[in-house]
This record gives sequence, structure tokens and C-alpha cells, in this order.
Amino acid sequence: MNTPVRFELFINGNAAPASDGRRLEVRSPANGELVGSIAVATAEDVNRAVGAARAAFRKWSSLTAYERERTIKGALAHVRAQADEIGLLMAREQGKPLAQARSEVHGACDTIDYFASEAVRIEGSVNPTENRSYRSWVVYQPVGVCALITPWNYPVSLLSWKLGPALATGCTVIVKPTSVTPLSPLAFCRALVEGGIPGGVINVLTGSGAVLGDALVRHPGVAKVAMTGSSATGKRIMAAGGPLLKKISLELGGQCPAIVCADADLDNAANVLTYKKFRNCGQSCSAVNRVYAHRDIHGVLVAKTTALAERLTIGDGVSDVALDLGPMATSEGVATAERHVADALQKGASLACGGRRPDGAAFARGNYYLPTILTGATPDMDVMREETFGPVLPFAAFDTVDEAVALANDSAYGLAAFVFTRDLATAHRVSEALEAGTVCVNHGAVNTNYGPYAGWKDSGLGMELSRRAVFEYLKTKHIKVQL
Ligand code: NAD
Repeated sequence: MNTPVRFELFINGNAAPASDGRRLEVRSPANGELVGSIAVATAEDVNRAVGAARAAFRKWSSLTAYERERTIKGALAHVRAQADEIGLLMAREQGKPLAQARSEVHGACDTIDYFASEAVRIEGSVNPTENRSYRSWVVYQPVGVCALITPWNYPVSLLSWKLGPALATGCTVIVKPTSVTPLSPLAFCRALVEGGIPGGVINVLTGSGAVLGDALVRHPGVAKVAMTGSSATGKRIMAAGGPLLKKISLELGGQCPAIVCADADLDNAANVLTYKKFRNCGQSCSAVNRVYAHRDIHGVLVAKTTALAERLTIGDGVSDVALDLGPMATSEGVATAERHVADALQKGASLACGGRRPDGAAFARGNYYLPTILTGATPDMDVMREETFGPVLPFAAFDTVDEAVALANDSAYGLAAFVFTRDLATAHRVSEALEAGTVCVNHGAVNTNYGPYAGWKDSGLGMELSRRAVFEYLKTKHIKVQL
């Protein structure tokens, strides 16, 4: 079942080799074995894909919203039937346990389904006019060809956040997945087209971000760029696409704080912190990256969270469906975790658990790192300022809620924040004061299809999810008529 796969580019509904025949290997983060290979797109391939997407745009955008809704929902049934296979590819290339990978594919289908339903609810408006003979109305039209550039931590889910509104509004797309996890998004897109989305509406090009990604951002035939990735890459995309006046939306990095007040339900807080830090090995933009716990409950909360973290099972997710954690997706991720832990310990933090790679032959060839908890963290530590994107959770104690809010907001990032309290007034005041696009009170379910997800500060531009996100893929037109 785990033989290497060979994927080509996907242009106009057909598999297409790169014009110069170049290929790249994809290897397992669990053991380094070959998972498959991809074609490396050239500038000529970019022109071919953009041409196909532009041609398909004429027909796809002229369908009625109801026709698009039916077509997309029909295709999703076909994708869902292949979720096991696509999930297996994801587990093999990304490292997350198989059950989580399969559930991600189903969740991505749900997101695209949510947006397909939205397609028929994009309403324009009629304005009162200054003169009886004028008529004025506002309509929304699809922007055109969109480049969808995605990262490796949730390779199919984060694609669906873009693909859903793009397809529903009548846009056509060039998907550019990361070279770390290109196979599952390719298989996902191919399944959508096999299920009935017309060829040319979804095209997939694989290759490096700096070359292929940049070429897509600058291509005159691409009207919009939607990207999820690091803040550094997002700024590069703005520098390239901004002067060309492209419509750009960016979901970028996070350094998400959690404030746990003295009156919080500590069992709930410990459960949420364990989930929101260690699931997917902390490789989530909205992972809790630092905890501020009231001094009165700090020791108990650390003990409860440590007990939960130490119970998490870790291993090759492809071979055991019941595991909590797989390997990290890249060896660079392990290196960052190690650097953050070493820096924190050197500056005075203490280790409550983890702090190293696991022992044993089963882990020797993979990117494994144990769930790690640090105490005594201070603002000068890298782990409190940079995005760790790994399974390392630092705790600091606070005395007043105002002090905790100030510490939480002292960050270049503003993606998500968490607060735990039983007091209604504290819940409201703190969530209003936190500088973040999403605030979760007493839970960790950051992303829901109906909730807008918009990074503040270095965490992004524009938004994804919720019915509002369709406007990231639409142009506004005011039509005024004199009778
Ligand atoms: P990355 O920035 O390295 O790459 C993201 C994508 O951009 C990849 O497809 C890459 O090939 C492409 N790319 C790289 N350089 C480019 C360029 N110059 N022009 C165009 N495209 C380019 O990110 P990553 O390492 O794949 O993913 C991890 C990062 O993503 C983390 O910082 C994480 O916080 C962030 N992330 C954010 C969210 C969110 O919703 N805010 C969600 C998940 C991940």
C-alpha cells in the first residue's frame, strides 16, 4: 500500500509533465523513505496553466450560482469517497496520524460545501438615487484567475479555505502547494475534477516557492493571490504583487498567547492547552505558543498539563491509527524546537517534561521531538517571541489580568488568543483588549466555517472562512442607469 507515487502537473484536467522534465522527490518525515515524486513547473508551464484557467473562467463564471453549487457538491461526493486514500498520502508525506489526516480531508470537503452553499447567497444591492430617472445597483463579480499558495501543516484543509470561496464565486485557480506536502493536495484537486468540476477550473503546479510561487504572483494573467504561510513569505508576496495592484489575501504566522485566570476551570484549561499545543506537533498557526497563568494556580495548571502531555503517544502515524502525534514534517522544525528550548534553559527556564528527541530505534530516522513544557519563561526568550511551530509550551506566572493582557499583546503577531475564566466580565474585557483576529474563551476550537479568520499585525491581511470571505474573490461593480 505504501509504494511511491509519481505525480505530474495538473493542467486543464490532464496530467502534464514539466516542459523540461525536471522532478523532485517527496520523502517521509517518519523514516526518510520515498513517498513519491512531483514535476517541477517551468515558466512555460505557468503560461500553459494560466492560459487554461483563463479560458475556463469564461464558462465557469457565466454559470448561474445554482449551477456552480450543484457541480461543486456533486464533485465533493466523489472526493469524500476517496478520503481514505488522500488521507493516507497526507499521513505519509506530512507525518500526522492517519485518522487525523483522513479527518482533515473530510473537513476540507465540508468547508468547500459550506462555500458552495454561499454561492447562491451573494446578494447585490439597490440604492436610492438623487434623480427619479436614475437607477443604481451594486453587483459582485468574480476577480478571475486566482493563485492559491499553500503550506505543509494542513495541506488540504488550508487549500479548501481558498478553493471553497474561489470556486463558489466563479473564479478559476492555479493551486501551488508546498514541495514538502504536494501529493495530498494534488490528489484532492484531481478528485474534484474527476467528480465533475470542469478541467481548467482547477489547475495544480508544483515547484519551489521562490521560483514558481513568485512567477505566479507576478503573472499578468493572475488577478488574485491567496496564500497561507510564514510572515516573511507573505511580505515577499506583497512586495512582488502589491505594485502590480493584485488582490492579495494572506494568512500568516502566529505566536498565540493563552491567559489562564485564577478562577478558571483548570481541568478544561489543561485539556485545551494540551490539544492546542501538541496536536500536529504544534505545527499550527493558531497553536498556543505561550501561557500566562495566574500565580495562585500556576503550579497546579503546569502539573495537570504536564500529566496530559506525558500521556501523549508518538510514532509513525501511518503504521498506527490510534497515535496522538507523528513526526514533525521537517527536520528544520525539530531544529527550531531544540533552539527555543536551549535558549530558554540558558536564560533561566526549567523543564517540566520533554526537551529532547525520543529514544529508541523506531525514532532514529524520523523528525521526532517529545511534547515539551517549560516554566519560568520570560519575555526575552526566543520561545516567547518567535513562532515555534513545534511541540514546546512555555509557562509564565502573572499577578494581575491587566499585566497578562499587556504581556499577551507584546508581540509582532496577532492571529489568535485564548482566555480561561469563569467570570463573564473578565471574559468580555480581556477578549476585547486582546490584539488578535480570533479570541477563544474557555475552548480551543479556533476555526469554524462560519467564523471569520483574519490575522492582525504580522499575522495577515484580508480574511478566510465565513460568508464574508467570498468578498476576497469578488470585484464590486456599481451600475448606474439613466432611463
Ligand atoms: P512558507 O512561507 O515557507 O511557504 C508557504 C507557501 O509559500 C509555500 O507553498 C511556498 O512554496 C510558497 N512560497 C515561498 N516563497 C514564495 C515566494 N517568494 N512567492 C510565492 N510563494 C512563495 O510557509 P510553510 O513553512 O510552508 O508553512 C508554515 C507557516 O505557515 C508558518 O509560519 C505558519 O504559521 C503559517 N501558517 C499560517 C496559517 C494561517 O491561517 N494564518 C495557517 C497555517 C500555517
